[in-house]
Amino acid sequence: MLTQRAKQVDRRPMTGLESIYLWNILKGMMITLSHLFKKKATIQYPEQKRTFSKVFRGLQVLNRDAEGRENCTACGLCAVACPAEAITMEAAERLSGEEHLYREEKYAVKYEINMLRCIFCGFCEDACPKDAIYLSQTFAPANYGRKGFIYKKEDLLIPHPIEQPEAYKKALGEKVVKADG
Ligand code: SF4
Ligand code: SF4
Repeated sequence: MLTQRAKQVDRRPMTGLESIYLWNILKGMMITLSHLFKKKATIQYPEQKRTFSKVFRGLQVLNRDAEGRENCTACGLCAVACPAEAITMEAAERLSGEEHLYREEKYAVKYEINMLRCIFCGFCEDACPKDAIYLSQTFAPANYGRKGFIYKKEDLLIPHPIEQPEAYKKALGEKVVKADG
């Protein structure tokens, strides 16, 4: 026995009342009725929304620093760490004059996450040395086609903190911004 919770099966012969199952049907109906007066486990989504746990891991966000430059340096560590092989990217060299767009000399010109593969484990966030990706408190909305679940860089990138401060703050949610971006 692996636990102490095993329940002994009652093998006594059934009484006359038990053999017509009426008592058991009544017992079942009483349980159903009692649930009518209990607090409902379901909610009226989307009008009502649940508050998620502090450790809830949802849709990924590609982060920027305080000046609005993309943090991602296309090192590929997130893709290597991903157990679902959901991340693909293409790197490019930052050109002169693009210093205000990308924080590092290399950046991801293409970055995609397949949300149908993603298991929201958070390994990509843990693996990232640049605080460039994190899992937010939102989840991927429903979609009619498989292609709609391939999230591109434009879908994942956080709004610009200076150009769109409100949208940036909303996207940031509970995320704590590190001092170095
Ligand atoms: S959360 Fe996990 S499964 Fe999803 S992209 Fe990141 S590492 Fe891959
Ligand atoms: S998100 Fe982070 S780990 Fe992934 S490629 Fe960009 S810098 Fe590297």
